[in-house]
Amino acid sequence: MRILVSNDDGYFSPGIEALVQAVESFAEVTVVAPERDRSGASNSLTLTRPLSVRKAANGFFYIDGTPTDCVHVAVTGLLEHRPDLIISGINDGANMGDDTIYSGTVAAAMEGYLLGVPSIAFSLAQRGHAHLDVAARRAGELVRRLAARLIAQPMLLNVNFPALPDEQIRGVEVTRLGKRHHAEPVVRATNPRGETIYWIGPAGSARDAGPGTDFHAVAQGWVSVTPLDVDLTGVQCLAPVRDWLAQ
Ligand code: MN
Repeated sequence: MRILVSNDDGYFSPGIEALVQAVESFAEVTVVAPERDRSGASNSLTLTRPLSVRKAANGFFYIDGTPTDCVHVAVTGLLEHRPDLIISGINDGANMGDDTIYSGTVAAAMEGYLLGVPSIAFSLAQRGHAHLDVAARRAGELVRRLAARLIAQPMLLNVNFPALPDEQIRGVEVTRLGKRHHAEPVVRATNPRGETIYWIGPAGSARDAGPGTDFHAVAQGWVSVTPLDVDLTGVQCLAPVRDWLAQ
């Protein structure tokens, strides 16, 4: 089995190294990842300049582009063989609820899925890499369990691990995305030249976090697995908009 590994934290991230180690015993692994931290890059493609691919001493390829660029370039030109599966992560921090819209980790997996390759995004729900070894071992286990099924029926899965010791993890729960409150306001500061600058504020806290959601599962100590789809059609809005435009 051929697996392409990417992420949004950069090719040097402890999370991607742990993920590679978790699957390399049973898969032929190629890494193509951004050369720097591109967290929050979402599904952006670089269209105004060419991209350079370089190879690190450990064999990882890195690109001066976004996570989506990495998977796109890998699948549509760089790799000799099409991967059977694409995995992204393990992200340093949660990608739950609305995070999935902004996440480069999810975007890398989504690009694979849009190109017809089953893909899984992995995130460790608490920043700082605590219990990364546990998450990585469980990520490898999930890939091993699901690969054949996903190859037969391509899907996009979003996985979040609670940052807990292995014996405190209760198991795997299949969830839907929750929702967050609106993001915190921007943080205003002054730069050394006296100019006002703005930092994008942190994501809002969980709002829709009841049973069945990714937020709830992870808070209760479960590994959350959410199947994602990519159709943005507002199905419930079709009828009213048709009505408005018929008048
Ligand atoms: Mn990230």
